[in-house]
Amino acid sequence: MTPQAYVPPVTNIRPGQADPGTPRVLRDAMISCVVPAYNEHENLALLLPRLQDVLTKTGANWEVVVVDDGSRDATAILMSSWTRQPGFRYVQLSRNFGKEPAITAGLEAALGDAVIILDADLQHPPSLLPTMIARWEAGIDMVYAVRANRNDENLTKRWGTRLFYSLLGGSRGVNVPPHAGDFRLMDRAVVNALLQLPERNRFMKGLYAWVGFESESITYVPDSRQHGESHFSALKLLRLALAGLTAFTTWPLRAVSLTGFAISLCSFGYGLYIVCEYLLFRNPVDGWPTIVTILLFFSGINLISLGIVGEYIARIFDEVKGRPLYIVRQAVGKPYMAATQQNERSD
Ligand code: UDP
Ligand code: MG
Repeated sequence: MTPQAYVPPVTNIRPGQADPGTPRVLRDAMISCVVPAYNEHENLALLLPRLQDVLTKTGANWEVVVVDDGSRDATAILMSSWTRQPGFRYVQLSRNFGKEPAITAGLEAALGDAVIILDADLQHPPSLLPTMIARWEAGIDMVYAVRANRNDENLTKRWGTRLFYSLLGGSRGVNVPPHAGDFRLMDRAVVNALLQLPERNRFMKGLYAWVGFESESITYVPDSRQHGESHFSALKLLRLALAGLTAFTTWPLRAVSLTGFAISLCSFGYGLYIVCEYLLFRNPVDGWPTIVTILLFFSGINLISLGIVGEYIARIFDEVKGRPLYIVRQAVGKPYMAATQQNERSD
């Protein structure tokens, strides 16, 4: 059997969606907001009216897609009342899959010509949406929000972030902007491109950069979380960082080979030195502390190397299983069609 090239399926263009590249006339367009939410019912109760206010003022058609990432609080009850009015859609996942799969679920569900992703906890101010939309209307494909500062984060997180971005580097021509997150507007063309990427290991910040397109940043000062606590513990952040590094870099593998090579050279030199010492000066070979130290050192190096290789193999394992990224339990609600309603009124 001859191997066939993988052709990603184009499944995300649905009837009713504008073709990418059509002129951006806000009045005729649909703006989608995708909100991943995990146990955020108190925050959603504050966010949704604000979004409704901002989006109605744009005069466009709009929808807010709340992706419930397996919440165990009152999110489902809250959303059952919000989805009774047009504009609010609720996609409930069958369990907690994590923020990145929840965002992908929202992007899959969104119908808009432009899609805005924002957190449910009000750290991403809805007041920024009109600026983002204006830049999109002017022809920019992706408008991403960059934090003016990281004052809301503790020192460990700030240092960790800095270390992560320096390790990520400008890997393979993909420059992931450091202080930007998921808060961004994307044109339909960008969303379609993202949805065509088949990988399960979705480090979204890397994927946004990978797809390219004309991008522009706007600066914002993140608000503090309104209710509850961040879902990202140090351990979760470390896991996310590992996912990002293994998805976007191969230099750790090369570093393992180089370290092995350097150690071989050193040990060869050291061996030569011991032999010369014995032959020339009849010095006895150093005792067992040297051997134990070297043995332990190299055992450590071996295990670290194995761990690095293992991380990459784990990613391959995840990819080949080919499981869906998320499972939808239910999806309800429909978009708010400002233009249609105006037509109906004038009929
Ligand atoms: N989130 C999610 N699934 C998760 C964890 C978080 O959908 O497993 C959502 C969360 O509800 C919020 C957003 O992702 O809307 C950002 O999460 P959080 O505020 O905890 O992260 P931080 O702001 O600390 O980075
Ligand atoms: Mg937050």
